[in-house]
Amino acid sequence: MRIFVNDVAVRDGFQIEKTLIPTATKIAMVDALSETGLAKIEVASYVNPKLVPNMADGDEVLAGIQRKPGVLYTAIALNLKGVERAVAAKARADEINVVMSASETHNRANANRTHAQSLSDFAEVVKIAKPVGMLVNGAISTSFGCPFEGRISEEVVIGFVGKYLELGFDGVSLADTTGMANPRQVASLAGRVVKTFPGAEITLHFHNTRSMGLANVMAGIDAGVMHYDGSVAGLGGCPFAPGATGNICTEDMVNMLHDQGFETGVDLDKLIACANQIEQIVGHAVPGQVMKAGKTLELRPIPARLTQEDFAKA
Ligand code: ZN
Repeated sequence: MRIFVNDVAVRDGFQIEKTLIPTATKIAMVDALSETGLAKIEVASYVNPKLVPNMADGDEVLAGIQRKPGVLYTAIALNLKGVERAVAAKARADEINVVMSASETHNRANANRTHAQSLSDFAEVVKIAKPVGMLVNGAISTSFGCPFEGRISEEVVIGFVGKYLELGFDGVSLADTTGMANPRQVASLAGRVVKTFPGAEITLHFHNTRSMGLANVMAGIDAGVMHYDGSVAGLGGCPFAPGATGNICTEDMVNMLHDQGFETGVDLDKLIACANQIEQIVGHAVPGQVMKAGKTLELRPIPARLTQEDFAKA
């Protein structure tokens, strides 16, 4: 079975880093990720550069990368103004990913928007992005829980998925922005979304805040979802969500999927090489585990004391 793996480290990961990451470093990382076989790479964020300084150079990153055929390069925006900037860029993203939170409180904190304002923006987004050939994906943040409001009812999330698809969005992401999802909850909500909207491209975006990220991926796959976001080396967080920490780690997810016979099209060795670079770029320890432990079947040399001679004596 084929699972599609996206990476969001250059956006969701770098956005919370306190040191400014040079544009050239971001471009080099995107180009390295392009060689790994990922389906989508999130490259830029058209948010207020005063609030998220590390995302101010999205246009330059998009203009500087070498685009690999078959890879979709995506950018994120929280409102119409952001999408207008994305559409105006000389080197446009292939897909704009607009975000609204299922929780009204979180939407005000993150996007400074009510649900009604976000949705009316999104109707305009379709009108300006589609004619220039951009795909539109809609993310629903805090789909599995909100740090201010707690659990969000499944009906609310399913209602927003329906609204996005009615607007003409090409895909919908359910995001667990602050890592509040658990596997049974994912099975229930993702299962209902897949059954209610057959044929829709649904992506799950998990954070590993409470160590349930990869278990949630397996619950999502069992529920029929084929697209997953991860962040190489497990970087990530949300500047406007208290306690938000790293995304699920892309190479840990790919290792888990390959172990179970899923096809991802991803070259895991190349992805681990990217993760090792990330650690140097951000200058601090990163959560990725396979980059430290090695792939599951990366066998080690047999200890010297266990020589043929030793066996012969025994
Ligand atoms: Zn996220």
